[in-house]
Amino acid sequence: MAEVVTPFLFGWKLVEVVVHDDQLSLRSGTVGVIVDVDDEARCFKHEQHHPPVANCACGFFAKAKSESLVLYAHYPFSHLLEVELSGRTKVGRDDIRAQYQRALRLLLLPHCYRCGQTATVLGEPAVRDGRGEVFPDPALTSMCEECAGARWWLLDEVATQLAMPVSWALPSEGLVLHGVGMNLGDH
Ligand SMILES: [Zn+2]
Ligand SMILES: [Zn+2]
Repeated sequence: MAEVVTPFLFGWKLVEVVVHDDQLSLRSGTVGVIVDVDDEARCFKHEQHHPPVANCACGFFAKAKSESLVLYAHYPFSHLLEVELSGRTKVGRDDIRAQYQRALRLLLLPHCYRCGQTATVLGEPAVRDGRGEVFPDPALTSMCEECAGARWWLLDEVATQLAMPVSWALPSEGLVLHGVGMNLGDH
């Protein structure tokens, strides 16, 4: 990885939408921390680090292409977040780590986790994530209104609470979120 300072870089990452203190928030799919719309990275291992640091995992991590996240999708809880990264950055062949992250837009799993129909709301699935002891905030998934339980949110409400544009993922991005293998091409 080469150290470069660039004003703006764009990338993709997986996030979960969780209910945190009765408010919708984004949680990083990899390290499980709540992500603010505008955030500065800190290192969880070494207090003296100014992320990103070589040979450490600190800094906001994103992939240059959403397709390369397919292996990490945690169906049906993963959604796609487009981010703008700035400040100190480390740019790899297909990934980026950076000091600052701004969340640009959220693309939700486009199908109901239960029946496979086009999703219309985000809600708490009947089955919990199985990681409830590690991450107490419930993760939300996409569903149709027939399959929705007691608590669900319309797209507009999700966008307002998260303070960013939110839409349903396109079919190709939906496949990434399903963790469905595809021809990833040359990258
Ligand atoms: Zn570090
Ligand atoms: Zn359904």
